[in-house]
Amino acid sequence: MSFALLGIGVCDGVAIGSARLISTVDFEVVRRPVAEADIEKEVARFEKALAQAKNEIRHLIETSAETLPEEVQAFLRSHLLMLEDANIAHKPIERVLEEHCSAEWALKESLDRILKRFDDIDDPYLRERREDVIQVAGRIMKHLQGAPEVHLPKGEPIIIVAHTLSPADLMLLREQQVAAFITDAGGVTSHTAILGRSLGIPSVIALRNAYHLIDNEDTLIVDSAEGVVLVAPSEEEYSEYQLRQRLFQIEQQKLERLTTARAVTLDGVEVLLEANIELPSDMEAVHAVGAEGVGLLRSEFLFLNRTDIPSEEEQFMAYREVVESMAPFPVTIRTLDIGADKTSSGLPSAGDLPLGLRAIRFCLAEPQLFQTQLRAILRASHYGRARLLLPLISSFAELEQALRHIEQAKRSLRAADQPFDADIAVGMMVEVPAAAILAEAFARKTDFLSIGTNDLIQYTLAVDRNDALVADLYDARHPAVLRLIAMTIAAATKLNKPVSVCGEMAADIHCVRLLLGMGLREFSLHPAKILAVKREIIRADVAKLEGKVARILKTNEPERLQQLLGEIDLL
Ligand code: PEP
Ligand code: MG
Repeated sequence: MSFALLGIGVCDGVAIGSARLISTVDFEVVRRPVAEADIEKEVARFEKALAQAKNEIRHLIETSAETLPEEVQAFLRSHLLMLEDANIAHKPIERVLEEHCSAEWALKESLDRILKRFDDIDDPYLRERREDVIQVAGRIMKHLQGAPEVHLPKGEPIIIVAHTLSPADLMLLREQQVAAFITDAGGVTSHTAILGRSLGIPSVIALRNAYHLIDNEDTLIVDSAEGVVLVAPSEEEYSEYQLRQRLFQIEQQKLERLTTARAVTLDGVEVLLEANIELPSDMEAVHAVGAEGVGLLRSEFLFLNRTDIPSEEEQFMAYREVVESMAPFPVTIRTLDIGADKTSSGLPSAGDLPLGLRAIRFCLAEPQLFQTQLRAILRASHYGRARLLLPLISSFAELEQALRHIEQAKRSLRAADQPFDADIAVGMMVEVPAAAILAEAFARKTDFLSIGTNDLIQYTLAVDRNDALVADLYDARHPAVLRLIAMTIAAATKLNKPVSVCGEMAADIHCVRLLLGMGLREFSLHPAKILAVKREIIRADVAKLEGKVARILKTNEPERLQQLLGEIDLL
């Protein structure tokens, strides 16, 4: 019987194939006593499995250093570090020695203890690291139990169904012919989701029960854009999705033809399309779509998945690589936006709540860390066109303090005879209502503004952007949000200061016309969506949009607003 499952899609695309259930490991072990004479052998068995697990990861890192995105290598390195952790590497041995139990039982007991501690953690980012611990312990367990590796038949499109998948498992599966993967576990910010997105494998996560409801060799349709999985589809569904899949491929090919086209509207208005990136390894994708700059480099990604803090030299090299690769176009480097859902064990306690000690607040509280980063960014500015972007500014005091820090970093570089662009542009993110309301005053004190709609929406509507329970209240088209964005664009335009939108709204093709009508001329977004947004721009007529958008901005009533928003799609 055909049925559908709903989860979270992690990228665009449709896959059709045959289900392969993979059970990575079995943690349901029973306590097996071990005789005194065999204790040493049991310890050696654990040590061997641990060594095999480490070698497996090392082998993956070494053999695919060229092909793996940097963030994937970082996941693998973090798993390797976890395998060194005393709780995983030594505790099970102590248990075998003290309790005379099997290595499997000792590992399971140690894992249960670690997981208990995770249950008390409120931070969603750290909670997701729980999955990593399970995956790492699972890797040792697999070697203890001698669990078979997955070998998939060649040729047939295979869709992997798993309760959970580690990034390393995903790398192994990528080498076999995997059309898609679906998992019961995972959140939008889980490593598996991030990896699926970066590898471009259509995937749906957070399905909860897929592993129990699907059988091996069931035909599956995975619609990653919609987060839907159809199990044993009917013939009509099958043909419909085959057609959708083909259309998606044709769409992608058509879009590729726009790579070198200019982003100019029907009435001749030029628009700048820049890319949002996390790491230097994203630059290939940026060039592939012909982006004219990096509008947002989320520098905090250099700080994640590690236990130490990147040095000034390491940061400098990373920023310089991006700046040189993008020259002569600009690279906007945002200073560390750590806290809330992005935390790092290498950093002193950044706040774990959306309203806490986050972003600029954290940097001002950690002046040394901030100085190190500012010097690295300034040094990179010598090698092309860099711009400095300050996140989450909500008051003049914060902005002025940050600007003083930039001056101090410049002084220290001058004293050390280090070259940098003395005229580097300094801008700020507008992502809290206070900044939008005071946009004109802030624009006078900075060189450019960048509107972070992801946070602006959550702080305007009091809706945590990571909380699935209130996801339906997170509304980019709420009249209050629209007015704050329009006010900010108008304020910067009046002062002739550049202003861009770098939140997800800039990548939403249904918002392009709205933003153009508000006067936006700079969009910064994920490279994968740049060509689709460019196509919307090329089809738009700004002169026609302006009047309609002005009406939208005066409308409070939801139904009328919906109607007007629908009308601009037809202009
Ligand atoms: C935003 O808030 O819109 C933004 C671009 O920043 P981030 O998503 O990194 O918080
Ligand atoms: Mg933000």
